Amino acid sequence: MSEVTKILLPEDRIPTSWYNVIPDLPGPMAPVIHPGTLQPVTPDDLLPLFPMGLIEQEVSSERWIKIPEQVLDIYRLWRPSPLFRARRLEKVLGTPAKIYYKYEGVSPAGSHKPNTAVPQAYYNKLAGTKRIASETGAGQWGSSIALACQMFGLECTVYMVKVSFNQKPYRKSMMQLWGANVIPSPSDQTDAGRAILEQHPDSNGSLGIAISEAVEDAVTHENTRYALGSVLNHVCLHQSVIGLEAKEQLALVGDYPDVVIGCHGGGSNFAGLAFPFVADKAAGKEVRLLAAEPQSCPTLTKGVYEFDYGDTAKMAPISRMYTLGHDFMPPGIHAGGLRYHGAAPLVSQLLDAGVIEAQAFGQTGCFEAAVQFTRAEGIIPAPESSHAIRAAVVEALKAKEEGRERTILFNLSGHGHVDMAAYDAYFSGALEDYSYPAEAIRESLAALPKIG
Ligand SMILES: *Cc1c(COP(=O)(O)O)cnc(C)c1O
Repeated sequence: MSEVTKILLPEDRIPTSWYNVIPDLPGPMAPVIHPGTLQPVTPDDLLPLFPMGLIEQEVSSERWIKIPEQVLDIYRLWRPSPLFRARRLEKVLGTPAKIYYKYEGVSPAGSHKPNTAVPQAYYNKLAGTKRIASETGAGQWGSSIALACQMFGLECTVYMVKVSFNQKPYRKSMMQLWGANVIPSPSDQTDAGRAILEQHPDSNGSLGIAISEAVEDAVTHENTRYALGSVLNHVCLHQSVIGLEAKEQLALVGDYPDVVIGCHGGGSNFAGLAFPFVADKAAGKEVRLLAAEPQSCPTLTKGVYEFDYGDTAKMAPISRMYTLGHDFMPPGIHAGGLRYHGAAPLVSQLLDAGVIEAQAFGQTGCFEAAVQFTRAEGIIPAPESSHAIRAAVVEALKAKEEGRERTILFNLSGHGHVDMAAYDAYFSGALEDYSYPAEAIRESLAALPKIG
């Protein structure tokens, strides 16, 4: 058996095509609905928001889509990313399981998000876009889109959820360093923001509100388009480089996972790692695909699979997805990137069909796992990624209990170097485990749109 702990692919083995899961879905996709007309959207409806290159990818049924050379040139700054065998963590846990993790914190922004920010900026540049308006929760997406815009000479405006703006001032500085204009949301710059502030002057903000502000900014300004860091089909497509590389890296050491784990906010890093395994599963391979979400924002485990708006102000398209309701205001947990009311329609459809599964975890247990991981492996994880670590630890301990070998693969979606306020809160005992907000979810689910 190989004693390798770090599995690298040579630079020339970087994936040259993205994998599109759509042709491998168990059934047809639900239509996407226009928020104004309540009719299915046409590509033309989406043109004020996205460039045609991305709209085509959103609906493509091609299994493989070529990655443009200019995108590959930038990917090569950090891709292929390393795959690690967590030997020290295995030892600490005393588990017979093998634990592998794919490390996406090596990108300049520190997470998986530049995998899609770069192609999104590229297709916008091709289409003549001058400025991108977007939102950010924890600051990871804002950093990534700021970086990508800078690389293609685009201007960038980022609406940053207020709770994160206050918790993570360094993320704001990073975005500014990459040339973006950062505005705390809800803001007085948009109708959507002003409407929230009127009702809730001390609103912490939410991703749903920030999305409304960015969408409004894009559709009311010329040569400005919108970009979303998760949820959409083309985002899941771009993130497939993670799983494609991981499969190849595991093959180099003669391994294949029994369970593949990603944390889940909107679904993109989970999809990126797990979707390339969906095709294998459809072909009869046995592999579990597990999304790990926070108990305080339990979209996949407590939400409903219905049509809902992507944002709070009902300006974004309506998709069939697992949702807690577009009005749902999640508690201000430190894994800011996991505070979204909805989920990727592709992840949702696969969950509904039983191809993937989901579990929810409380934040203190996740921080415990993150600290254990850091002390064993050295790398400091993002609070979001700690949900995947927690799930992996639970699987490894189950293997120990059952005295079974098992191969676990999880996505370490980002580093936590800019999340020290969260770790400080954990060490000072100030972290709460928010219980499942049943009442708030019941209320917000009552406001779902009625789609015939
Ligand atoms: C944004 C983010 C997430 C959550 O978003 P997904 O689209 O669900 O991947 C997870 N981890 C990190 C490090 C992030 O930045």
